Amino acid sequence: MKLTVTSRDKTQFIDITSEIQNQVNIQGIKSGLCFVFIPHTTAGITINENADPSVQSDILNVLNTVIPWELNYSHLEGNSPAHVKSSIVGASEIIAIENGQLALGTWQGVYFCEFDGPRTRHVNIKFIEDR
Ligand code: ZN
Repeated sequence: MKLTVTSRDKTQFIDITSEIQNQVNIQGIKSGLCFVFIPHTTAGITINENADPSVQSDILNVLNTVIPWELNYSHLEGNSPAHVKSSIVGASEIIAIENGQLALGTWQGVYFCEFDGPRTRHVNIKFIEDR
C-alpha cells in the first residue's frame, strides 16, 4: 500500500509513525516485518526521537550545514544537495511488528525526510507476516 505525504518546506521532517501503525491495524498484522520504502531521489526515511522536536530541527540543521545549497555542483537540475542528503539518510527502513504494534522504542518515531520540497510524495509499505 501507499501513503501520500505533502511537505510544506524545502527541508522538513514529517512524522508518519501513526499512519504506518494505522496500516498495520487495517491489515491485521500481529507479528512480522514492515518494510517502508520511498520511491524518491531527493527525500529519505529515518527513525529518530519523537519527543523533542528540536532533535529533528538539529538533524536538519547539521545536514543543511554539512551539505550546503551553494557548492560547485554539476547536476543541472540544481538540487544536488537534496540528492546527497537522500543517499546519506537512505530510502528505506524495516520495522518489526510485535503484538500488532510497530516495535519501536519509547522515544522513536518514523520520519519522512523532505530535502527538496514542498512537494507531494509517496511512501510504499509492504508487510511480511509471521505464520
Ligand atoms: Zn535532481
